[in-house]
Amino acid sequence: MKTIVALPGEGIGIEVVEATCDLMVAAGMPVEILTPAQYDRPGSALPEATRQACREADGVLFGAAGPDTAQVIGWLRWGMDAWAGVRPAKFMSGMQSPLADPDGIDCIILRENSEGMYPGREGDLADIKRVLPDLTDMFGRTLGECGDGKFAVKVVTRAAAERIGRFACELALARKARGYPGKVTCVAKSNVLPISDGLFESTIREIVAGHPELSYDYYHVDDAARRAVRYPKTMDVVVCMNQYGDIMSDIIGEVAGGLGVSASGNYGDDGWAYFESCHGSGPDIAGQGIANPTATILSASMMLEHMGLSSEAARLEAAVEQVFREGKTLCRDQGGTATTKQMADAVLAAYQNQ
Ligand code: ATP
Ligand code: MG
Repeated sequence: MKTIVALPGEGIGIEVVEATCDLMVAAGMPVEILTPAQYDRPGSALPEATRQACREADGVLFGAAGPDTAQVIGWLRWGMDAWAGVRPAKFMSGMQSPLADPDGIDCIILRENSEGMYPGREGDLADIKRVLPDLTDMFGRTLGECGDGKFAVKVVTRAAAERIGRFACELALARKARGYPGKVTCVAKSNVLPISDGLFESTIREIVAGHPELSYDYYHVDDAARRAVRYPKTMDVVVCMNQYGDIMSDIIGEVAGGLGVSASGNYGDDGWAYFESCHGSGPDIAGQGIANPTATILSASMMLEHMGLSSEAARLEAAVEQVFREGKTLCRDQGGTATTKQMADAVLAAYQNQ
C-alpha cells in the first residue's frame, strides 16, 4: 500500500480532488489517501503535522490554489524546494484545442521553479541605488540616474541552471526511449539579458552537449511563444527560466486543450514531488460541480508514475484518452454538459475496461 496526501486547496480544487481521490479508491488502486487538516484558518500556513505527512507520503496531490491557500502552495513549492516544474501539453482526440489540426501536440514545458524573477525579491529602488549607483544598463545609464521607484531582482545561479539542465536531459532521454525525438529546447532572452539569461542558456547548452544522442535548440521567449502556437508539434522537452515557463506552459496548455486538462508535477530533491492541476480555484464556477477533473486526474497519473505505480498511471491516462475519444461525457469547458462527477465516473468506467 502506498500513501497519498491529498490537499484540496480551495474553490474547484476541492471538487476535482474529491472526484480524483474517489476515482483512485473505486478503481482499487493500492493506495491509502490521507486528507489531513489543510490549515487552521484560511490564509494561515499548513500545520506541522500536515507538513510532516507531506514529507513522508509516497505522493502528494494538491487541488488548486486561490487567495486563501497561497501559503500552502508556497510551502509545497518553495518550502520543499520543488525546483523542477513539469507541465505536459498533450492533445488527446476530442479535446477543445483552438488549432485546426492539433493532433500530435505532445511536449513538456519544464519550468525552473526556484529562481529567476519569481521568488519576488523586490524593494525600493533607493536601497539598491545606494549599493550599486554606478550599475549601467545597455545604454550606459547608471542606476543613480534613475528617478524614484521599485526594483525586482532576477537571480540565475549556475547550480540551479545545471540541475534543471540535467533534469531536462533525463526527461528527454526517457522520452526518446519511448519514441520521442530526443530534443531539448531552451527558452530565455539572452539577447537582451546576455549575462543572467545568457548564463542559463550557455549552461543548458553545455549540459545537453554531454548527451550526443540528444539534439538542442534555443529560442528567445518571444519567438518560443510564437512557435508554441504555430509549430507546437516540433516541441519535445522545453526548458524555461521560471517566469518564461509560467507563460509558455499556459500558452501551450491552451493550445493543447485548455486549463481544464493541464496537469503538472513539481519535483524536488531526494525523490520528493507534489502534483497539481495548472488551473486556479475557478471562483466563477466553484461550488457548481461542473469543473473539469481531467487536469487533476492527469496530475494523479503523473503522481502514480512517480510512486512506482506505472501500470496504474498508464491505464489512468489511457482511460482519460478513451473518454475524450468517445466524447460523450465531457465537461462544459470541453464542449459537453457533464458534471465533475459524471466525467470522473466515465474515466473510472474506462479504467475498469482497459
Ligand atoms: P485564481 O486566482 O484562483 O487562479 P482565476 O480567476 O484565475 O482564479 P482560474 O482557476 O485560473 O481562475 O481559471 C481561469 C478560467 O478557466 C476561469 O474562467 C475558470 O472557470 C476556467 N477553469 C479553470 N479550471 C477549470 C476546470 N478545471 N474546468 C473548467 N473550467 C476551468
Ligand atoms: Mg488563475
